[in-house]
Amino acid sequence: MNQYQSNPQSVKRVVIAGGGTAGWMTAACLSKLIGKNIDVTLVESDNIATVGVGEATIPPIRTLHKLLGINEQEFIRETNATFKLGIEFSNWRENEHSYIHSFGMTGKECWAGEFHHFWLRGLEKGITHDFGDYCFELQAAKQNKFGISNQQAINFAYHLDATAYAKYLRKFSEALGAKRVEGKIKYVQKHPQNGFISALALESGAIIEGDLFIDCTGFRGLLIEQALHTGYDDWSHWLPCNTAVTVQTQNTKQPIPYTKSIAHEAGWQWRIPLQHRMGNGLVFCNSFMDIDQATEKLRTSVTGKMINEPRQINFLTGRRRKGWNKNCVAIGLSSGFIEPLESTSIHLIMTAAVRLMRLFPYSGITQSTVDEYNNKLDSELNSIRDFIVMHYKVTNRQDTEFWRHCNAMEIPDTLRHKLDLFKETGRVFLDDGDIFRVDSWTQVLMGQGMYPQQYHHIAAEMDDNELVRFLNAIRTQVMQSVAQLPSHADFVNRYANAIDKAS
Ligand SMILES: Cc1cc2nc3c(=O)[nH]c(=O)nc-3n(C[C@H](O)[C@H](O)[C@H](O)COP(=O)(O)OP(=O)(O)OC[C@H]3O[C@@H](n4cnc5c(N)ncnc54)[C@H](O)[C@@H]3O)c2cc1C
Repeated sequence: MNQYQSNPQSVKRVVIAGGGTAGWMTAACLSKLIGKNIDVTLVESDNIATVGVGEATIPPIRTLHKLLGINEQEFIRETNATFKLGIEFSNWRENEHSYIHSFGMTGKECWAGEFHHFWLRGLEKGITHDFGDYCFELQAAKQNKFGISNQQAINFAYHLDATAYAKYLRKFSEALGAKRVEGKIKYVQKHPQNGFISALALESGAIIEGDLFIDCTGFRGLLIEQALHTGYDDWSHWLPCNTAVTVQTQNTKQPIPYTKSIAHEAGWQWRIPLQHRMGNGLVFCNSFMDIDQATEKLRTSVTGKMINEPRQINFLTGRRRKGWNKNCVAIGLSSGFIEPLESTSIHLIMTAAVRLMRLFPYSGITQSTVDEYNNKLDSELNSIRDFIVMHYKVTNRQDTEFWRHCNAMEIPDTLRHKLDLFKETGRVFLDDGDIFRVDSWTQVLMGQGMYPQQYHHIAAEMDDNELVRFLNAIRTQVMQSVAQLPSHADFVNRYANAIDKAS
Protein backbone atom coordinates (compact mmCIF):
# COMPACT_ATOMS: atom_id res chain seq x y z
CA MET A 1 0.00 0.00 0.00
CA ASN A 2 1.12 3.54 -0.63
CA GLN A 3 2.22 4.61 2.86
CA TYR A 4 1.60 8.28 2.07
CA GLN A 5 -2.15 7.86 1.39
CA SER A 6 -2.61 7.24 5.05
CA ASN A 7 -1.11 10.61 5.88
CA PRO A 8 -3.09 13.16 3.88
CA GLN A 9 -2.89 15.85 6.56
CA SER A 10 -1.76 19.26 5.42
CA VAL A 11 1.68 20.47 6.39
CA LYS A 12 1.78 23.63 8.41
CA ARG A 13 4.27 22.98 11.23
CA VAL A 14 7.86 22.32 10.21
CA VAL A 15 10.27 21.20 12.91
CA ILE A 16 14.00 21.34 12.20
CA ALA A 17 16.15 19.20 14.49
CA GLY A 18 19.70 20.58 14.75
CA GLY A 19 21.22 24.02 14.47
CA GLY A 20 24.46 23.62 12.55
CA THR A 21 24.98 24.97 9.05
CA ALA A 22 22.29 22.62 7.73
CA GLY A 23 19.68 23.54 10.33
CA TRP A 24 20.08 27.27 10.05
CA MET A 25 20.43 27.32 6.25
CA THR A 26 17.21 25.37 5.99
CA ALA A 27 15.50 27.61 8.55
CA ALA A 28 16.66 30.70 6.64
CA CYS A 29 15.28 29.37 3.35
CA LEU A 30 11.94 28.26 4.73
CA SER A 31 11.31 31.34 6.82
CA LYS A 32 12.32 33.81 4.12
CA LEU A 33 10.76 32.15 1.11
CA ILE A 34 7.67 30.27 2.28
CA GLY A 35 7.46 31.30 5.93
CA LYS A 36 4.17 33.19 5.59
CA ASN A 37 2.29 29.94 5.20
CA ILE A 38 4.12 27.69 7.64
CA ASP A 39 5.51 27.73 11.18
CA VAL A 40 9.21 26.99 11.47
CA THR A 41 10.65 25.74 14.76
CA LEU A 42 14.29 24.74 15.18
CA VAL A 43 15.45 22.62 18.10
CA GLU A 44 19.13 22.61 18.99
CA SER A 45 21.17 21.67 21.99
CA ASP A 46 23.81 24.01 23.37
CA ASN A 47 25.48 20.93 24.83
CA ILE A 48 26.01 19.10 21.54
CA ALA A 49 28.62 20.78 19.40
CA THR A 50 28.23 21.25 15.69
CA VAL A 51 30.79 19.50 13.46
CA GLY A 52 32.70 22.81 13.41
CA VAL A 53 34.11 22.46 9.89
CA GLY A 54 32.68 23.12 6.44
CA GLU A 55 34.19 26.45 5.53
CA ALA A 56 34.75 26.28 1.77
CA THR A 57 31.87 26.73 -0.66
CA ILE A 58 31.16 26.71 -4.40
CA PRO A 59 29.62 29.53 -6.47
CA PRO A 60 25.90 28.64 -6.40
CA ILE A 61 25.84 29.76 -2.75
CA ARG A 62 25.76 33.30 -4.13
CA THR A 63 22.49 32.56 -5.91
CA LEU A 64 21.01 31.37 -2.65
CA HIS A 65 22.22 34.46 -0.82
CA LYS A 66 20.64 36.65 -3.51
CA LEU A 67 17.39 34.75 -3.19
CA LEU A 68 17.46 35.31 0.56
CA GLY A 69 18.34 38.97 0.11
CA ILE A 70 21.56 38.64 2.10
CA ASN A 71 23.78 41.72 1.96
CA GLU A 72 27.10 40.38 0.69
CA GLN A 73 29.27 42.94 2.42
CA GLU A 74 27.60 42.39 5.76
CA PHE A 75 27.90 38.62 5.31
CA ILE A 76 31.62 38.90 4.46
CA ARG A 77 32.23 40.96 7.57
CA GLU A 78 30.10 38.92 9.98
CA THR A 79 31.51 35.57 8.94
CA ASN A 80 35.12 36.72 8.44
CA ALA A 81 34.77 35.39 4.92
CA THR A 82 37.21 35.62 2.04
CA PHE A 83 36.63 35.04 -1.67
CA LYS A 84 37.31 31.69 -3.28
CA LEU A 85 38.19 31.34 -6.97
CA GLY A 86 38.90 27.62 -6.89
CA ILE A 87 41.10 24.96 -5.35
CA GLU A 88 44.80 24.37 -5.87
CA PHE A 89 45.55 20.66 -5.99
CA SER A 90 49.16 19.90 -5.08
CA ASN A 91 50.79 16.47 -5.24
CA TRP A 92 47.63 14.92 -6.66
CA ARG A 93 48.83 14.02 -10.16
CA GLU A 94 52.27 13.28 -8.77
CA ASN A 95 54.51 14.71 -6.07
CA GLU A 96 55.67 18.30 -6.73
CA HIS A 97 52.93 18.91 -9.32
CA SER A 98 50.16 21.48 -8.84
CA TYR A 99 47.17 22.66 -10.79
CA ILE A 100 44.18 24.83 -10.01
CA HIS A 101 40.56 23.79 -10.46
CA SER A 102 39.05 27.24 -10.82
CA PHE A 103 35.45 28.35 -11.01
CA GLY A 104 36.13 30.14 -14.26
CA MET A 105 35.46 29.32 -17.85
CA THR A 106 38.59 28.46 -19.82
CA GLY A 107 38.79 30.17 -23.22
CA LYS A 108 35.69 30.36 -25.36
CA GLU A 109 33.50 27.55 -26.59
CA CYS A 110 31.56 27.09 -29.81
CA TRP A 111 28.44 25.04 -30.50
CA ALA A 112 30.23 21.82 -31.39
CA GLY A 113 33.15 21.71 -29.08
CA GLU A 114 34.55 23.34 -26.00
CA PHE A 115 37.72 25.33 -25.78
CA HIS A 116 39.94 22.43 -24.75
CA HIS A 117 39.67 21.00 -28.29
CA PHE A 118 41.20 24.20 -29.69
CA TRP A 119 43.83 24.21 -26.97
CA LEU A 120 44.74 20.58 -27.73
CA ARG A 121 45.12 21.39 -31.40
CA GLY A 122 47.33 24.35 -30.43
CA LEU A 123 49.44 22.01 -28.35
CA GLU A 124 49.85 19.73 -31.35
CA LYS A 125 51.03 22.78 -33.31
CA GLY A 126 53.62 23.68 -30.66
CA ILE A 127 51.65 26.37 -28.77
CA THR A 128 52.56 25.28 -25.28
CA HIS A 129 50.89 27.79 -22.96
CA ASP A 130 49.16 26.12 -20.03
CA PHE A 131 45.46 25.40 -20.32
CA GLY A 132 45.00 27.60 -17.24
CA ASP A 133 46.56 30.60 -19.01
CA TYR A 134 43.24 31.02 -20.81
CA CYS A 135 41.13 31.29 -17.66
CA PHE A 136 40.61 34.64 -15.92
CA GLU A 137 39.62 33.28 -12.49
CA LEU A 138 42.49 30.82 -12.49
CA GLN A 139 45.06 33.49 -13.29
CA ALA A 140 43.56 35.86 -10.74
CA ALA A 141 43.87 33.12 -8.11
CA LYS A 142 47.48 32.45 -9.04
CA GLN A 143 48.32 36.12 -8.63
CA ASN A 144 46.30 36.52 -5.38
CA LYS A 145 44.01 39.05 -6.96
CA PHE A 146 40.29 39.59 -6.73
CA GLY A 147 37.71 42.23 -7.57
CA ILE A 148 34.01 42.63 -8.27
CA SER A 149 33.15 45.14 -10.97
CA ASN A 150 30.60 45.77 -13.68
CA GLN A 151 33.29 45.63 -16.34
CA GLN A 152 34.53 42.09 -15.78
CA ALA A 153 32.37 39.19 -14.65
CA ILE A 154 34.07 36.89 -12.15
CA ASN A 155 32.82 33.57 -10.86
CA PHE A 156 33.55 33.00 -7.20
CA ALA A 157 32.46 31.46 -3.93
CA TYR A 158 33.48 32.06 -0.31
CA HIS A 159 35.56 30.70 2.52
CA LEU A 160 33.58 31.36 5.70
CA ASP A 161 33.76 30.74 9.43
CA ALA A 162 31.26 27.89 9.93
CA THR A 163 30.30 28.86 13.48
CA ALA A 164 29.86 32.51 12.56
CA TYR A 165 27.80 31.54 9.50
CA ALA A 166 25.35 29.46 11.57
CA LYS A 167 25.05 32.40 14.02
CA TYR A 168 24.49 34.82 11.16
CA LEU A 169 21.76 32.65 9.66
CA ARG A 170 20.18 32.17 13.08
CA LYS A 171 19.82 35.93 13.52
CA PHE A 172 18.49 36.18 9.97
CA SER A 173 15.93 33.38 10.47
CA GLU A 174 14.76 34.49 13.90
CA ALA A 175 14.13 37.99 12.55
CA LEU A 176 11.81 36.37 10.01
CA GLY A 177 9.85 34.50 12.64
CA ALA A 178 11.64 31.14 12.93
CA LYS A 179 11.31 29.92 16.52
CA ARG A 180 14.35 28.43 18.28
CA VAL A 181 13.96 25.93 21.09
CA GLU A 182 17.05 25.08 23.09
CA GLY A 183 17.18 21.57 24.44
CA LYS A 184 18.41 18.05 23.92
CA ILE A 185 16.14 15.72 22.00
CA LYS A 186 15.67 12.64 24.16
CA TYR A 187 13.52 10.59 21.84
CA VAL A 188 11.46 10.79 18.69
CA GLN A 189 7.74 10.01 18.98
CA LYS A 190 6.10 8.15 16.10
CA HIS A 191 2.48 7.51 15.09
CA PRO A 192 1.77 3.90 16.01
CA GLN A 193 -0.15 3.23 12.77
CA ASN A 194 2.07 4.58 10.03
CA GLY A 195 5.42 5.18 11.73
CA PHE A 196 5.45 8.86 10.77
CA ILE A 197 7.15 11.16 13.26
CA SER A 198 4.68 13.01 15.46
CA ALA A 199 6.92 14.91 17.88
CA LEU A 200 10.36 15.40 19.39
CA ALA A 201 10.51 14.82 23.12
CA LEU A 202 13.15 16.94 24.83
CA GLU A 203 15.04 16.14 28.03
CA SER A 204 13.36 19.17 29.59
CA GLY A 205 10.01 17.40 29.18
CA ALA A 206 8.90 19.67 26.34
CA ILE A 207 7.18 18.00 23.40
CA ILE A 208 7.63 19.64 19.99
CA GLU A 209 4.93 18.47 17.62
CA GLY A 210 5.07 18.91 13.88
CA ASP A 211 3.75 17.81 10.48
CA LEU A 212 7.10 17.70 8.68
CA PHE A 213 10.46 17.10 10.35
CA ILE A 214 13.83 18.08 8.95
CA ASP A 215 16.72 16.06 10.31
CA CYS A 216 19.76 18.33 10.61
CA THR A 217 21.33 16.48 13.53
CA GLY A 218 24.55 15.74 11.67
CA PHE A 219 26.21 12.33 11.35
CA ARG A 220 24.02 10.85 14.10
CA GLY A 221 20.87 11.14 11.96
CA LEU A 222 18.67 11.12 15.02
CA LEU A 223 15.38 11.14 13.09
CA ILE A 224 16.14 9.70 9.65
CA GLU A 225 18.23 6.78 10.95
CA GLN A 226 17.84 6.26 14.68
CA ALA A 227 14.06 6.69 14.53
CA LEU A 228 13.17 5.71 10.96
CA HIS A 229 15.97 3.21 10.16
CA THR A 230 16.30 4.46 6.60
CA GLY A 231 19.62 2.73 5.87
CA TYR A 232 22.92 3.95 4.48
CA ASP A 233 24.80 3.16 1.27
CA ASP A 234 28.47 2.82 2.10
CA TRP A 235 30.70 4.29 -0.63
CA SER A 236 34.02 3.69 1.08
CA HIS A 237 35.06 1.19 -1.62
CA TRP A 238 35.15 4.23 -3.96
CA LEU A 239 36.00 6.93 -1.43
CA PRO A 240 38.27 5.33 1.17
CA CYS A 241 39.08 8.33 3.38
CA ASN A 242 37.24 8.04 6.69
CA THR A 243 38.90 10.31 9.23
CA ALA A 244 39.87 13.94 9.52
CA VAL A 245 41.95 15.75 12.08
CA THR A 246 41.38 19.48 12.12
CA VAL A 247 42.94 22.54 13.70
CA GLN A 248 42.68 26.30 13.36
CA THR A 249 45.81 28.42 13.12
CA GLN A 250 46.73 32.08 13.12
CA ASN A 251 47.30 33.63 9.74
CA THR A 252 50.94 34.15 8.88
CA LYS A 253 50.23 36.12 5.74
CA GLN A 254 47.36 37.74 3.91
CA PRO A 255 44.56 35.34 2.95
CA ILE A 256 44.69 33.97 -0.59
CA PRO A 257 41.60 33.64 -2.82
CA TYR A 258 41.60 29.84 -3.15
CA THR A 259 41.55 26.68 -1.06
CA LYS A 260 44.64 24.50 -0.93
CA SER A 261 44.30 20.75 -1.20
CA ILE A 262 47.59 18.95 -0.73
CA ALA A 263 47.68 15.21 -1.29
CA HIS A 264 49.81 13.12 1.08
CA GLU A 265 50.69 9.46 1.39
CA ALA A 266 47.27 8.38 2.68
CA GLY A 267 44.83 11.15 1.74
CA TRP A 268 45.02 14.91 1.58
CA GLN A 269 45.16 18.09 3.62
CA TRP A 270 43.21 21.34 3.32
CA ARG A 271 44.02 24.96 4.05
CA ILE A 272 41.10 27.36 4.05
CA PRO A 273 42.11 31.01 4.47
CA LEU A 274 39.74 33.27 6.40
CA GLN A 275 40.20 36.91 7.30
CA HIS A 276 41.09 36.18 10.93
CA ARG A 277 42.57 32.67 10.82
CA MET A 278 43.30 29.61 8.73
CA GLY A 279 41.21 26.42 8.82
CA ASN A 280 43.33 23.27 8.44
CA GLY A 281 42.46 19.63 8.22
CA LEU A 282 44.10 16.39 7.31
CA VAL A 283 41.85 13.81 5.69
CA PHE A 284 43.02 10.20 5.59
CA CYS A 285 42.05 6.57 5.46
CA ASN A 286 42.78 4.86 8.76
CA SER A 287 43.74 1.59 7.06
CA PHE A 288 46.81 3.38 5.74
CA MET A 289 47.65 5.95 8.45
CA ASP A 290 46.85 6.07 12.15
CA ILE A 291 45.49 9.04 14.06
CA ASP A 292 48.79 9.74 15.86
CA GLN A 293 50.69 9.87 12.58
CA ALA A 294 47.99 12.07 11.06
CA THR A 295 47.93 14.47 14.02
CA GLU A 296 51.70 14.76 14.03
CA LYS A 297 51.69 15.36 10.30
CA LEU A 298 49.10 18.09 10.70
CA ARG A 299 50.93 19.74 13.61
CA THR A 300 54.20 19.86 11.73
CA SER A 301 52.78 21.04 8.43
CA VAL A 302 50.57 23.96 9.51
CA THR A 303 52.09 27.36 8.92
CA GLY A 304 50.77 29.46 11.84
CA LYS A 305 50.45 29.07 15.61
CA MET A 306 47.66 26.68 16.56
CA ILE A 307 44.58 28.34 18.08
CA ASN A 308 42.99 25.13 19.39
CA GLU A 309 43.98 21.51 19.91
CA PRO A 310 43.66 19.15 16.93
CA ARG A 311 40.27 17.42 16.82
CA GLN A 312 39.41 14.07 15.26
CA ILE A 313 36.29 13.57 13.13
CA ASN A 314 35.32 10.10 11.90
CA PHE A 315 33.04 9.64 8.92
CA LEU A 316 31.81 7.00 6.54
CA THR A 317 31.53 8.16 2.95
CA GLY A 318 28.17 7.39 1.43
CA ARG A 319 24.56 8.42 1.52
CA ARG A 320 21.34 7.82 3.36
CA ARG A 321 19.22 5.47 1.21
CA LYS A 322 16.42 8.00 1.06
CA GLY A 323 16.79 11.72 1.67
CA TRP A 324 13.05 11.93 2.29
CA ASN A 325 11.43 9.10 4.24
CA LYS A 326 7.84 9.31 5.55
CA ASN A 327 7.49 12.85 6.97
CA CYS A 328 11.20 13.35 7.53
CA VAL A 329 13.70 15.01 5.19
CA ALA A 330 17.39 14.63 6.02
CA ILE A 331 19.47 17.68 5.16
CA GLY A 332 23.20 18.10 5.80
CA LEU A 333 25.42 15.40 7.27
CA SER A 334 22.38 13.37 8.37
CA SER A 335 21.72 12.72 4.67
CA GLY A 336 25.23 11.39 4.04
CA PHE A 337 28.70 12.62 3.32
CA ILE A 338 30.60 12.23 0.07
CA GLU A 339 33.78 13.81 1.42
CA PRO A 340 35.03 17.40 1.58
CA LEU A 341 37.44 17.41 -1.37
CA GLU A 342 35.39 19.66 -3.67
CA SER A 343 33.45 21.55 -0.97
CA THR A 344 30.08 20.15 -2.03
CA SER A 345 28.37 19.54 1.30
CA ILE A 346 27.07 23.05 1.97
CA HIS A 347 25.97 23.14 -1.64
CA LEU A 348 23.94 19.97 -1.08
CA ILE A 349 22.26 21.57 1.94
CA MET A 350 21.24 24.44 -0.25
CA THR A 351 19.92 22.29 -3.11
CA ALA A 352 18.04 20.09 -0.64
CA ALA A 353 16.38 23.11 0.97
CA VAL A 354 15.46 24.61 -2.40
CA ARG A 355 14.15 21.29 -3.74
CA LEU A 356 12.07 20.85 -0.60
CA MET A 357 10.54 24.29 -1.04
CA ARG A 358 9.75 23.63 -4.69
CA LEU A 359 8.02 20.40 -3.73
CA PHE A 360 6.64 21.64 -0.43
CA PRO A 361 3.70 19.37 0.52
CA TYR A 362 1.29 22.06 1.73
CA SER A 363 -1.75 19.84 1.37
CA GLY A 364 -0.16 16.56 2.35
CA ILE A 365 2.82 14.36 1.61
CA THR A 366 2.35 12.21 -1.48
CA GLN A 367 4.36 9.31 -2.85
CA SER A 368 5.07 11.18 -6.08
CA THR A 369 6.45 14.18 -4.18
CA VAL A 370 8.75 11.99 -2.13
CA ASP A 371 9.87 10.03 -5.21
CA GLU A 372 10.61 13.19 -7.15
CA TYR A 373 12.68 14.58 -4.29
CA ASN A 374 14.61 11.34 -3.88
CA ASN A 375 15.18 10.83 -7.63
CA LYS A 376 16.62 14.31 -8.05
CA LEU A 377 18.82 13.78 -5.02
CA ASP A 378 20.07 10.46 -6.45
CA SER A 379 21.30 11.96 -9.67
CA GLU A 380 22.87 14.91 -7.89
CA LEU A 381 24.73 12.70 -5.43
CA ASN A 382 25.88 10.22 -8.07
CA SER A 383 27.37 12.90 -10.27
CA ILE A 384 29.18 14.60 -7.37
CA ARG A 385 30.44 11.21 -6.21
CA ASP A 386 31.84 10.45 -9.67
CA PHE A 387 33.57 13.81 -9.89
CA ILE A 388 35.27 13.27 -6.55
CA VAL A 389 36.20 9.62 -7.13
CA MET A 390 37.88 10.79 -10.34
CA HIS A 391 40.52 12.72 -8.33
CA TYR A 392 41.64 9.52 -6.60
CA LYS A 393 41.50 7.32 -9.67
CA VAL A 394 43.05 9.53 -12.35
CA THR A 395 46.56 10.08 -11.04
CA ASN A 396 50.07 8.86 -11.70
CA ARG A 397 50.65 8.39 -7.97
CA GLN A 398 51.48 4.83 -7.04
CA ASP A 399 54.16 5.64 -4.48
CA THR A 400 52.29 4.43 -1.38
CA GLU A 401 49.92 1.64 -0.45
CA PHE A 402 47.01 4.12 -0.31
CA TRP A 403 47.59 5.39 -3.85
CA ARG A 404 48.13 1.87 -5.17
CA HIS A 405 44.81 0.96 -3.55
CA CYS A 406 43.10 3.89 -5.32
CA ASN A 407 44.73 2.94 -8.58
CA ALA A 408 43.41 -0.61 -8.39
CA MET A 409 39.92 0.15 -7.04
CA GLU A 410 36.77 -0.36 -9.08
CA ILE A 411 34.92 2.81 -10.00
CA PRO A 412 31.22 3.44 -10.76
CA ASP A 413 30.21 2.52 -14.34
CA THR A 414 28.99 6.06 -14.91
CA LEU A 415 32.45 7.41 -14.15
CA ARG A 416 34.15 4.68 -16.20
CA HIS A 417 32.08 5.80 -19.18
CA LYS A 418 32.98 9.47 -18.68
CA LEU A 419 36.68 8.66 -18.39
CA ASP A 420 36.68 6.43 -21.48
CA LEU A 421 34.80 9.02 -23.51
CA PHE A 422 37.20 11.77 -22.55
CA LYS A 423 40.31 9.70 -23.07
CA GLU A 424 39.22 8.32 -26.43
CA THR A 425 37.51 11.37 -27.90
CA GLY A 426 38.11 14.44 -25.72
CA ARG A 427 34.35 14.79 -25.20
CA VAL A 428 32.64 15.52 -21.89
CA PHE A 429 28.87 15.30 -21.64
CA LEU A 430 27.12 16.27 -18.45
CA ASP A 431 24.46 14.23 -16.67
CA ASP A 432 21.23 15.71 -15.35
CA GLY A 433 22.47 16.12 -11.82
CA ASP A 434 25.95 17.40 -12.71
CA ILE A 435 26.80 20.51 -10.75
CA PHE A 436 30.31 20.56 -12.19
CA ARG A 437 30.42 22.00 -15.69
CA VAL A 438 32.54 20.80 -18.58
CA ASP A 439 35.16 23.36 -17.54
CA SER A 440 35.53 21.66 -14.18
CA TRP A 441 35.83 18.20 -15.71
CA THR A 442 38.46 19.28 -18.23
CA GLN A 443 40.51 21.29 -15.72
CA VAL A 444 40.58 18.44 -13.24
CA LEU A 445 40.97 15.57 -15.73
CA MET A 446 43.93 17.21 -17.43
CA GLY A 447 45.21 18.55 -14.11
CA GLN A 448 45.24 14.99 -12.80
CA GLY A 449 47.13 13.90 -15.91
CA MET A 450 44.54 12.49 -18.31
CA TYR A 451 44.88 13.96 -21.80
CA PRO A 452 42.57 12.84 -24.60
CA GLN A 453 43.93 10.86 -27.53
CA GLN A 454 42.20 13.18 -29.97
CA TYR A 455 40.29 16.42 -30.14
CA HIS A 456 37.04 17.35 -31.86
CA HIS A 457 37.81 18.16 -35.46
CA ILE A 458 35.80 21.32 -35.29
CA ALA A 459 39.09 22.74 -33.99
CA ALA A 460 40.72 21.90 -37.33
CA GLU A 461 38.26 24.18 -39.13
CA MET A 462 40.52 27.06 -38.16
CA ASP A 463 43.67 27.42 -40.18
CA ASP A 464 46.94 27.62 -38.28
CA ASN A 465 47.23 31.42 -38.32
CA GLU A 466 43.67 31.84 -37.22
CA LEU A 467 44.26 29.40 -34.36
CA VAL A 468 47.35 31.32 -33.20
CA ARG A 469 45.42 34.61 -33.29
CA PHE A 470 42.43 33.06 -31.51
CA LEU A 471 44.49 31.60 -28.67
CA ASN A 472 46.67 34.70 -28.30
CA ALA A 473 43.69 37.02 -28.13
CA ILE A 474 42.13 35.07 -25.28
CA ARG A 475 45.37 34.83 -23.32
CA THR A 476 46.11 38.52 -23.73
CA GLN A 477 42.62 39.46 -22.66
CA VAL A 478 42.95 37.28 -19.54
CA MET A 479 46.30 38.86 -18.59
CA GLN A 480 45.00 42.40 -19.13
CA SER A 481 41.90 41.77 -17.05
CA VAL A 482 43.90 40.24 -14.21
CA ALA A 483 46.35 43.16 -14.25
CA GLN A 484 43.48 45.52 -13.44
CA LEU A 485 42.41 43.66 -10.31
CA PRO A 486 43.40 44.73 -6.79
CA SER A 487 45.02 42.27 -4.43
CA HIS A 488 42.56 39.90 -2.79
CA ALA A 489 43.48 41.05 0.73
CA ASP A 490 42.99 44.73 -0.14
CA PHE A 491 39.68 44.02 -1.77
CA VAL A 492 38.37 42.01 1.21
CA ASN A 493 39.37 44.77 3.63
CA ARG A 494 37.77 47.48 1.61
CA TYR A 495 34.66 45.50 0.81
CA ALA A 496 33.95 44.22 4.31
CA ASN A 497 34.45 47.64 5.87
CA ALA A 498 32.68 49.70 3.22
CA ILE A 499 29.38 48.88 4.83
CA ASP A 500 30.33 50.98 7.88
CA LYS A 501 30.64 54.01 5.68
CA ALA A 502 27.46 53.21 3.79
CA SER A 503 25.34 52.74 6.93
C1 LIG B 1 36.22 16.92 7.82
C2 LIG B 1 35.10 17.67 7.18
C3 LIG B 1 35.37 18.77 6.36
C4 LIG B 1 34.33 19.45 5.72
N1 LIG B 1 34.60 20.48 4.88
C5 LIG B 1 33.61 21.04 4.16
C6 LIG B 1 33.84 22.08 3.25
O1 LIG B 1 34.95 22.59 3.12
N2 LIG B 1 32.80 22.57 2.53
C7 LIG B 1 31.54 22.08 2.67
O2 LIG B 1 30.64 22.50 1.95
N3 LIG B 1 31.27 21.13 3.59
C8 LIG B 1 32.27 20.60 4.32
N4 LIG B 1 31.98 19.65 5.25
C9 LIG B 1 30.59 19.33 5.55
C10 LIG B 1 29.99 20.42 6.45
O3 LIG B 1 30.76 20.54 7.61
C11 LIG B 1 28.54 20.10 6.80
O4 LIG B 1 27.80 19.84 5.65
C12 LIG B 1 27.87 21.25 7.50
O5 LIG B 1 28.65 21.74 8.56
C13 LIG B 1 26.52 20.85 8.01
O6 LIG B 1 26.61 20.07 9.16
P1 LIG B 1 25.22 19.72 9.87
O7 LIG B 1 24.53 20.98 10.19
O8 LIG B 1 24.53 18.72 9.03
O9 LIG B 1 25.68 18.96 11.20
P2 LIG B 1 26.33 19.51 12.56
O10 LIG B 1 27.20 20.68 12.35
O11 LIG B 1 26.94 18.31 13.22
O12 LIG B 1 25.09 20.00 13.42
C14 LIG B 1 24.26 19.11 14.13
C15 LIG B 1 23.30 19.88 15.00
O13 LIG B 1 22.40 18.97 15.58
C16 LIG B 1 22.27 19.26 16.94
N5 LIG B 1 21.91 18.03 17.66
C17 LIG B 1 22.44 16.80 17.50
N6 LIG B 1 21.88 15.93 18.35
C18 LIG B 1 20.95 16.63 19.04
C19 LIG B 1 20.03 16.28 20.08
N7 LIG B 1 19.95 15.04 20.59
N8 LIG B 1 19.24 17.25 20.55
C20 LIG B 1 19.30 18.52 20.06
N9 LIG B 1 20.14 18.90 19.10
C21 LIG B 1 20.96 17.95 18.61
C22 LIG B 1 23.62 19.82 17.38
O14 LIG B 1 23.52 20.60 18.56
C23 LIG B 1 23.96 20.65 16.14
O15 LIG B 1 23.34 21.91 16.27
C24 LIG B 1 33.00 19.01 5.93
C25 LIG B 1 32.73 17.95 6.79
C26 LIG B 1 33.76 17.28 7.42
C27 LIG B 1 33.45 16.14 8.32
